[in-house]
Amino acid sequence: MSRNAESTAFRSALEVVRGVEPRVAAAIAAELADQRESLKLIASENYASPATLLAMGNWFSDKYAEGTVGRRFYAGCQNVDTVEALAAEHARELFGASHAYVQPHSGIDANLVAFWAILADRVESPALRKAQARQVNDLTEADWFALRRELGNQRMLGMSLDAGGHLTHGFRPNISGKMFDQRSYGTDPATGLIDYDRVAEAAREFKPLILVAGYSAYPRKVNFRIMREIADSVGATFMVDMAHFAGLVAGKVFTGDFDPVPHAHIVTTTTHKSLRGPRGGMVLCGPELADQVDRGCPMVLGGPLPHVMAAKAVALAEARRPDFADYAQRIVDNAQALADGLLRRGASLVTGGTDNHLVLIDVSGYGLTGRQAEQALLDSGIVTNRNSVPQDPNGAWYTSGIRIGTPALTTRGLGAPEMDATAELIHTVLSQTTPGTGPDGAPSKAKYVLDPAVAESVGKQAADLLTPFPLYPSVDLG
Ligand SMILES: *Cc1c(COP(=O)(O)O)cnc(C)c1O
Repeated sequence: MSRNAESTAFRSALEVVRGVEPRVAAAIAAELADQRESLKLIASENYASPATLLAMGNWFSDKYAEGTVGRRFYAGCQNVDTVEALAAEHARELFGASHAYVQPHSGIDANLVAFWAILADRVESPALRKAQARQVNDLTEADWFALRRELGNQRMLGMSLDAGGHLTHGFRPNISGKMFDQRSYGTDPATGLIDYDRVAEAAREFKPLILVAGYSAYPRKVNFRIMREIADSVGATFMVDMAHFAGLVAGKVFTGDFDPVPHAHIVTTTTHKSLRGPRGGMVLCGPELADQVDRGCPMVLGGPLPHVMAAKAVALAEARRPDFADYAQRIVDNAQALADGLLRRGASLVTGGTDNHLVLIDVSGYGLTGRQAEQALLDSGIVTNRNSVPQDPNGAWYTSGIRIGTPALTTRGLGAPEMDATAELIHTVLSQTTPGTGPDGAPSKAKYVLDPAVAESVGKQAADLLTPFPLYPSVDLG
């Protein structure tokens, strides 16, 4: 594709938007400028291709298509069927899954679809069976009451939040923490790694209906073969949420015991993190759960987003190309270079390193909270996010960690030398920042002191690091 075509496409689109609401066009252009200038180390973000972005901006957005391919509640869905079928086919081929459901609007929605499919498949409830057999008129008020009681209160065992698990794995602020009776497994305090014997013990004691693996902030591989054996030993359904690391599975960096697809009963993911597609979610499963998963809409989802499914098909086609495997390997190589650079300079890392796309710095070694570190880095042009570390003494708001990840910078083309330079910049900021005090002179977990000259100098060096690696080089907005 010529650079010219991409520039023309985005320029024309902006011109059309500008004609209606110029402030929106200006904000879109400003977002590109901001992204181009920032050293983005947010582990959950990436840069989708121009083809993926362009596939979203069209009249597919206008179409209602509740149901599934070939079985819609609306007429005239033949073109939606085409893109949904293509996205699902690419997903099945890419991940070696027998079934793919590409409608979820986000990762949380994909998890809701999976939870419902598992409940519908597993919960022993005569009322639920009647409802599923569409004998709804036979259900009494007492049946409905029993159904609600039986569907709630099911048991889920997932990774604890402070060990890197996700809100949707049964934690209070999310509906999963209210629907499910939840327990969590953590990591070994000495090594920071998942202790599979402890997971097995927790599963034996708790007997969960669902065992969940997957994380947002655990910097290591997970052995899904062992997790499946644990699930089988207690009759649990094994679900893997690969939202963060789907790109590493797609790129065949995680294979064998570390590839969730052959081991899990059901796998959920986002499409916009390391997988580098449009914002959205997806569910993969075997034939046993396929029918229930396909009821995601209208069970827990509204009408599908056909324009996003079109973009998913494009991004998944890209991920099936050989150069995506090369990209996935570079993500991990870069994370290791970043971890090595930080360790060499004396930083303390949770688990002592990484074997995926992310690194978790324990900033208490610098005498800072995660919040202080995050803001000081941001002042210096380095975009990260604060994150709990295992057994975090500062809680989930202030935290003691900084999570950094390499999918986005790797897309731009940065490599090991730039990762080492990035480690130097991070270390400089964190070692030059000191905790501040509140109005009463008491130590503050939020305030910090950083010489503006240091922030400015680091910001300039961060910008210089990016100069040889332009973001969206094919897009010139003029
Ligand atoms: C990001 C993430 C999600 C949620 O994805 P959204 O698209 O933001 O809803 C779910 N699970 C895990 C493990 C995640 O990292």
